[in-house]
Amino acid sequence: MTDLRPLTFTASPLDFSGLERADQAWIETQRLDDSAKVLLLHKGSLATDSAGDPFVVRAREADDLPIARPGLVFLGRWDSTPWFCAALEPGSVPDGLNFRVAAMRAEPDFACLMGRAASLLAWHGRRRFCSNCGHENRAGVGGLKLDCGSCGMEHFPRVDPSVIMLPFSGDRCVLGRQASWPPGMYATLAGFMEPGETIEEACARETREEIGRRVLHARYVASQPWPFPSSLMIGLMAEIDEGELFPDDDIEDAKWFTRPQVRELYEENNWAPKHFSISRLLIETWLAGEES
Ligand SMILES: [Zn+2]
Repeated sequence: MTDLRPLTFTASPLDFSGLERADQAWIETQRLDDSAKVLLLHKGSLATDSAGDPFVVRAREADDLPIARPGLVFLGRWDSTPWFCAALEPGSVPDGLNFRVAAMRAEPDFACLMGRAASLLAWHGRRRFCSNCGHENRAGVGGLKLDCGSCGMEHFPRVDPSVIMLPFSGDRCVLGRQASWPPGMYATLAGFMEPGETIEEACARETREEIGRRVLHARYVASQPWPFPSSLMIGLMAEIDEGELFPDDDIEDAKWFTRPQVRELYEENNWAPKHFSISRLLIETWLAGEES
């Protein structure tokens, strides 16, 4: 077995309070709680305070800040503390911490807050107007829903499911690389699910499209919310048929690797911490010899 700490963005300490949050009076009670806190983002990055730390203020203090629409968005309760997030008006503060870098370094619990905040605020940024009629939306349920006052359509935060898989056969696996990645970096394959397919079918289709091989058997391993901006990565081990690889246009290269070759690749390079992505979890699982 692998000895990884929980994947980043998983095992959230937040209680999303799904039963209570539809009550606007309850949300207001949370906001007025003396312990209530607000995590502030700015242009998709983590806003920072004067010490360079994540900018967190008491909810009451947020009234004095240049908060962008839709205002405070309820994240949930962490122990007895209500947590909100909000976006600062673009340009109102200096640029903050790159979100991806900050998430790599953050404590696991705090990274979950950051991820939920980034996904929700990115959704608000793209959904100001109703996608059905173009009228301006109005936030409800503590910012976890948008209502169109014109056509009545309700809009909910997006989650985009994606499959991410490590293809293997015998004692070799396949890793691919995208042209935009750092030089020499190889990792698992991935792609968005499409309407009308199961997780296993998406895994088989993406594997066939990306490397031209057939999946014989796929096994679900784990999933990971991936707030860039709102994916859910569904991780699988995919046993495939042996043979030549035919990388498609989405990936620059794909190669067969033995376990010693994969170990060498990841020992020599530190592209991201082990706990940061499910790609690495799949690779570590395979290196541990749990699939053959
Ligand atoms: Zn509408």
